Amino acid sequence: MQRERSFVNSSTSCFNRRHLKPFLNFIGLNPNTLIDLFSSNHHSSDFTQKRSMYIRKRLWVMCCFFAFSVPLFSIYDFYAFEYEQATSILICRLVLSASLFIMAYLIKKCCSALLIKKLVALSFFLPSLFYLASMMTFDSLNEVPFIFSMLPYLVLAMVGLFPLTIRGSLILMAFIFFPFAIVQGLFYKGDVWSLFNSTWLFILFAGISLWLQIAQLTMLMHLYRESTVDPLTKLINRRVLLRSIEHLKSESIKFSVIMFDLDRFKRINDTFGHIAGDKVLKEAASVLSKSVRSTDIVSRYGGEEFLIILPHKSNAQALNLAHEIATRLRETPIAVSEAQSLCVTSSIGVTEYRYGETTENIFKRVDELLYDAKEQGRDRVISDAA
Ligand code: GH3
Ligand code: MG
Ligand code: MG
Repeated sequence: MQRERSFVNSSTSCFNRRHLKPFLNFIGLNPNTLIDLFSSNHHSSDFTQKRSMYIRKRLWVMCCFFAFSVPLFSIYDFYAFEYEQATSILICRLVLSASLFIMAYLIKKCCSALLIKKLVALSFFLPSLFYLASMMTFDSLNEVPFIFSMLPYLVLAMVGLFPLTIRGSLILMAFIFFPFAIVQGLFYKGDVWSLFNSTWLFILFAGISLWLQIAQLTMLMHLYRESTVDPLTKLINRRVLLRSIEHLKSESIKFSVIMFDLDRFKRINDTFGHIAGDKVLKEAASVLSKSVRSTDIVSRYGGEEFLIILPHKSNAQALNLAHEIATRLRETPIAVSEAQSLCVTSSIGVTEYRYGETTENIFKRVDELLYDAKEQGRDRVISDAA
């Protein structure tokens, strides 16, 4: 699971190189956004699940629609072609239709993002194979009716329906391109212009599909960020936190929980103003995020309360980390005005998930531990480790 508060780990990005940044800024693209548009490597697991659900729904509709409509077109085949040729194409149509029905069934049954990815690839590869097989029944390109010669372009246009990454989309387009190239090669009779025309049309359709699909992914990413990221601290909000916990529980992954509450935070607001208070919250969030692994989940739980989930970590390991973070917070000066800086302390509760318990129960327990820390004088960590 990737860190949820951001899609990308910008420090590892090749787009941070000095010579690329000005260019990307000039065309109005954030380098990190470009990386996220290119591949899903840095997408959080929560976003991957969300995107997969969108793709899944559209893919199911697409498979059902073509599973029904593909055999229907044989009416045209029997009207336009010789009986033998129409029969050969009908067999191809029935095979494609049956495959699409099976795929629609699998899509309905499965929720795994990886399987959906494979099914997307297959759903574009099979119609391309059908195109290749049906084209083999013709002797020359002149005989091929418009509806058949347009098939690769139609399949290309369908790619634009899905919020895919650029890399995913290019892979799909390669699947569509190979049967198309084979057909072009087999029917090539030295007419360079005709070859140029069809290839140019292919590139044009591919470009438009890529554009549509990038626009969809950009919008999805934007909406996802708006609804899941706290605008002040850039940490994930409680909604994603709850989803992530449910995911860990459903996978039976053990995890520990650390809950932080900044001490006497109201005083900071009262003394230095809310803007300074906001700055302290941002800095505290930054200290927390920098102290954890990319697989840990850091969230803003409430006003000046933060919650960290540590998958595969025991209570004792979480306790050590909580002490480290508390020290780091205590020793990090935060400038609250031009002349003044301050350091914040925190009260912390640490606990471990007990198999089968509700999320509400975990929160209640860790909140009580935090309350004990407050009661015992603040600036301390309390764990229920045995
Ligand atoms: P304690 O040590 O008992 O936790 O005391 P406290 O002052 O930290 O706790 P209290 O619950 O009394 O006050 C929390 C304050 O946090 C009150 C609220 O105005 C402030 N706060 C909550 N969200 C924000 C925010 O987004 N920005 C700023 N500047 N302040 C916030
Ligand atoms: Mg509080
Ligand atoms: Mg507080």
